[in-house]
Amino acid sequence: MSVLDEFPVVVIGAGPVGLAAAAHLRERGLPFLVLEADDTAGAAVRQWGHVRVFSPWRYNIDPAARRLLDDAGWVVPDLDALPTGAELAADYLQPLAALPALKPHLRYGARVEAISRLGLDRLRTAGRDTTPFLIRLTDGQEMLARAVIDASGTWRTPNVLGASGLPARGETDATAYLEHALPDVLNADRDRFADRHTLVVGAGHSAANTLLSLADLAAEHPGTEVTWAIRTTSPARTYGGGDADALPARGALGSRLRAHVDAGRIRLLTGFSIYALTPTDGRVAVVVRHGDGSEESLTVDRIVAATGFRPDHSIAAELRLDLDPVMGATRALAPLIDPNEHSCGTVPPHGVDELAHPEIGYYAVGMKSYGRAPTFLMATGYEQVRSVVAALAGDWTAARDVQLDLPETGVCNSNPDDSATGDSCCGPTPATEPMGRGLATGITGGLLAAPLNLVTLDPAPAGGQTGGCCGS
Ligand SMILES: Cc1cc2nc3c(=O)[nH]c(=O)nc-3n(C[C@H](O)[C@H](O)[C@H](O)COP(=O)(O)OP(=O)(O)OC[C@H]3O[C@@H](n4cnc5c(N)ncnc54)[C@H](O)[C@@H]3O)c2cc1C
Repeated sequence: MSVLDEFPVVVIGAGPVGLAAAAHLRERGLPFLVLEADDTAGAAVRQWGHVRVFSPWRYNIDPAARRLLDDAGWVVPDLDALPTGAELAADYLQPLAALPALKPHLRYGARVEAISRLGLDRLRTAGRDTTPFLIRLTDGQEMLARAVIDASGTWRTPNVLGASGLPARGETDATAYLEHALPDVLNADRDRFADRHTLVVGAGHSAANTLLSLADLAAEHPGTEVTWAIRTTSPARTYGGGDADALPARGALGSRLRAHVDAGRIRLLTGFSIYALTPTDGRVAVVVRHGDGSEESLTVDRIVAATGFRPDHSIAAELRLDLDPVMGATRALAPLIDPNEHSCGTVPPHGVDELAHPEIGYYAVGMKSYGRAPTFLMATGYEQVRSVVAALAGDWTAARDVQLDLPETGVCNSNPDDSATGDSCCGPTPATEPMGRGLATGITGGLLAAPLNLVTLDPAPAGGQTGGCCGS
């Protein structure tokens, strides 16, 4: 019995993976508390509730959660059906969170602001591993924890539009014109897009699906103008292999997009590296700067930033993290999920060993664990938390016996024929389906291999930096 055992394991976030962690903790008999910033379970999933996921129900339900739900007489959805985000929340996450086994351990409206060790800053080593974690909420409340499972996701921290990974000039002042990825173009958010000009930025499935929805909207509202901007010089990866694609649904998504572009219903701009955003007369001018220093400008009403997500590690800044410098995942996990090499389906199973940081007892899991890699699947996250919770329970045999039971195809691709709003977490798809490590689910690596146009700096101001080190 350690002094830490008197404190609960704190789970941050009541999304699919945080709730799965809670189910495993419950099964293992470990005291736990789930802190959720929002006022409901599955808050991030609800934000993209209109999007139909690409993996069927059977891969979206955590086994421990399923056991608890079954005991409570849950009506199992059709395991082969593809739910929308809204259905995932209403038919699975909400009933799970409402179970008497979990509900008393969930706190809503509890946004974690920072995590540290009680009385120890990051520099102090002595006694660190036997000192409880200190968790501070944004309302100032504090609590102690034996371990922290951080399942806070990445939905609230999308990538910026600026070409260099920094906000474009004026981006933070132009938020009134910016849309988060995957707005509900055809329903709830329709009025913001009908008969207006929208620029969609990004080359992944999120961008593709928003573009297809906008094209549908334009058919009803002819004043709707749609422009698509990508940083690469070719849209080939987003189009996929068309009729020759190994996965017909994936090919159909790309083919539909290509047909709209070819017909001029969607205007495509390649090599589009955003330099500045300037609000002008109720619209926003988007400035692109090329490698030769020349600039182009496009004025639109709305910009949809479908540029991916990044993790916010700032809440754990006082902990000892060992992050891969590229991915922002642990160093052990990064090579397994690198989108240069992997797709959702070729990520090998992994657990507590790959997720461990030098800060013993802190684990980022779920979407957040993948850092900037867009290759995450719920099923992978469920295996992560099974392994982490087994380790916390001292069952290292189970913790290290990591497995993933995914099908060979059909878990990692969207099926736009089934739903005009279908979408994928994964990046753009390649034209062919090369062999990958692990399971072949249809979306493979090479995401970041496409060439980009060069961008350039502002001309140096007179008397300013000249680029040399020998100025007089
Ligand atoms: C459009 C879309 C489609 C997807 N489709 C699939 C699919 O078909 N199959 C699949 O396997 N995966 C899919 N994914 C990927 C992934 O499985 C989901 O994003 C999933 O929701 C990730 O679960 P999570 O629990 O890690 O994070 P989230 O669902 O993002 O949950 C995080 C939770 O933490 C809370 N939170 C955040 N910060 C704090 C804080 N500081 N304090 C307290 N609480 C906090 C949030 O409010 C939220 O409730 C999809 C993703 C997207 C965006």
